[in-house]
Amino acid sequence: MQASPPMSLPDALANALGADRVSTDPAVANSHAADWSDAPRCAPPLVILPRTPEEVARALAVLSQYRQPVVVQGGLTGLAGAATPQAGEVALSLARLNALEAFDTTGGTVTVQAGVLLEQLQTHVEAEGWFFPLDLGARGTCQLGGNAATNAGGNRVVRFGTMRERILGLEVALPDGT
Ligand SMILES: Cc1cc2nc3c(=O)[nH]c(=O)nc-3n(C[C@H](O)[C@H](O)[C@H](O)COP(=O)(O)OP(=O)(O)OC[C@H]3O[C@@H](n4cnc5c(N)ncnc54)[C@H](O)[C@@H]3O)c2cc1C
Repeated sequence: MQASPPMSLPDALANALGADRVSTDPAVANSHAADWSDAPRCAPPLVILPRTPEEVARALAVLSQYRQPVVVQGGLTGLAGAATPQAGEVALSLARLNALEAFDTTGGTVTVQAGVLLEQLQTHVEAEGWFFPLDLGARGTCQLGGNAATNAGGNRVVRFGTMRERILGLEVALPDGT
């Protein structure tokens, strides 16, 4: 009996995550081709759009199995080119991972997913009389995961410090999918 040919990467990702989590549409790829920096645009061959942390881990496991380079993308407002794909890299976008999970209004802690926009969090806590001190011009587009990865400072940094000083704990997906 002949061995069946190995699955293509898009098929393996669609199999692991669901077809609607993977896009090879050139229009979608084009919208993930660059951040705000002057780095040369480079459309990724496919864009992965997970909806849960578990799906992020599953995507990374498949990419690791296929030895496929990947760039993680938040709101694409970074000014250093770190979210712009290099040739051959697929994009893993956190845009759909945007749930505000829990707000402890006594302790003043909030549990959020990586793709929540900075402004979304500010508005959410202000509605309960709290204040999230990080603020920057890209607030309506940048994501908390991107703020954490870049350790964003913003326009109140001298008084309140940087993003990483606001973080009590992280749930992370490692490159091998654990
Ligand atoms: C108008 C404007 C004003 C700005 N003002 C400031 C400012 O005052 N201070 C400041 O520090 N920056 C500022 N920035 C830069 C930018 O907004 C910040 O760096 C922001 O934190 C980037 O967030 P992002 O979600 O857009 O990340 P992206 O640009 O998408 O990604 C930036 C980096 O973070 C990584 N990343 C993103 N999400 C994740 C994740 N979930 N897990 C792991 N890695 C991740 C990416 O791989 C990349 O390396 C400004 C930018 C603009 C356009």
